[in-house]
Amino acid sequence: MPPTNDPELTGPEPDSAPSSGPHDQLVERPVEHDRALSRRRVLSGAAAALAGAGVTLTGEFGYAEATADSKLPVYGGYAATVHADRSTPPRSSRVDVVWSVDTTRRLIALTFDDGPAPNWTPRVLSILAQTDTPATFFMVGRRAREYGRLVAHRLAGHEVGNHTWAHRDLAKMTYEQACTAIGRAHNELTRLCGREPTLLRPPYGHLSGSTLLAANDLGYQVVLWNRQMLESRFTQNPDGLVDYIVESCDPGTILLAHDTGPVDRLVAIRGLAAMIAGLRRRGFEFVTVSELMAAAAPATAPAH
Ligand SMILES: [Zn+2]
Repeated sequence: MPPTNDPELTGPEPDSAPSSGPHDQLVERPVEHDRALSRRRVLSGAAAALAGAGVTLTGEFGYAEATADSKLPVYGGYAATVHADRSTPPRSSRVDVVWSVDTTRRLIALTFDDGPAPNWTPRVLSILAQTDTPATFFMVGRRAREYGRLVAHRLAGHEVGNHTWAHRDLAKMTYEQACTAIGRAHNELTRLCGREPTLLRPPYGHLSGSTLLAANDLGYQVVLWNRQMLESRFTQNPDGLVDYIVESCDPGTILLAHDTGPVDRLVAIRGLAAMIAGLRRRGFEFVTVSELMAAAAPATAPAH
C-alpha cells in the first residue's frame, strides 16, 4: 500500500504546512544575559521576552521549516565551552553525551523524535500500549504546545525528553540562544507532563560547546543514539527494515525513530509492532532512556 493511502494518516498533514509567519525571530530571542542562569530564570526570561513582544504564537509548525538546518555539515566548527566572562564556572562538574549504554543486560531504549504530531503520535502510542512497551519521546516544545492535549493523557509509563523549542540547530546558537531554545521547551514539557525533563536530544544530533554549557547549566544530560530506523533505505522493503532493526540492536542500544515527518518514515511505524516482537524474541526488554542509563554497568576502575 502506498504511504499516502494509509487510512489512519490521511487528511491534512500539519508537518507539511508552510510556515505561518515570522515567529522564529521571536521564539528564539535570547534571554537577558545572566551569568548565574538557572532553569527557573531561563524559563521566566523566555516567557517575559515573548510577552514583551505582544505576540501570540499560533499556527502550524511546518516540517520543511523545522528541518531547514539539517543540511549543515556533520563536522562543524568550534564553539566556546566556557562562559563569556571566563570567571563563571559551569553549574556542575560534567555533562554526559550518551550514544548508548554499557550493559550486558538485553535492554533497549526506543526513542521517538520531533512530535507530538496529530495522527502519528497517537498511532505510535497505540502500538506501544498494545505491546506494553515503554518509550522515550523527545518532543519539540512548540509542537507540544500545539498538540500536547492529544497525547498528554497517554504518556504514563513513557519518558519525555527535550528536543528544543523549534527544532533549530543548537550548534549555531550562542549560549544564551541555546538556553532559550532548551528552556522554553522545558517549560512547555513540564506543563504537559507534570514533571521536569532531564534529557536533551539536540536536533540533528548537532551540538557545540555552547550546547554542552547550556545543557549543563540547565541540568540536562545529552542523549543521542547509536541505531536508527533508516526509513529511506527501506521505503519499499518494510520487512527488510524490521529484520535490520531486530538483528542490529545490541544490549544498551538507544534506537532513534520519529513520530512525525515525511511519509516515507511511516515504514518504521508500520513495522514497529513486528520489531518489538522480534527484539523480545531475542530476549530484549524495552526501557526508557533514564531506566537504561540507570542500568549502566559501573565504570571499571583503572588498574594500579
Ligand atoms: Zn529532530
